[in-house]
Amino acid sequence: MIIPIRCFSCGKVIADLYEKYVDLISNPQDEEGNPMPDGEAMDKLGLNRYCCRRMMLTHVDLIEKLLRYNPAERDIIKVSGPNR
Ligand SMILES: [Zn+2]
Repeated sequence: MIIPIRCFSCGKVIADLYEKYVDLISNPQDEEGNPMPDGEAMDKLGLNRYCCRRMMLTHVDLIEKLLRYNPAERDIIKVSGPNR
């Protein structure tokens, strides 16, 4: 969904690091054009505790998919019927 503002376990603020983390692991970082490995990126951002590291590693960014969902659409189908 949306990256939590703070680590669930220790309370460190991590939300501001998420965009930098995604940038480091997805865009070329060295002269060969390779992105940085996940572990190195987290070290660079100061995420040393494993509780904070799991927040970054296990986060699934679903907000863009959810924004496309229209809850009113279901009511329109109910009223008009699916075959009309
Ligand atoms: Zn933590």
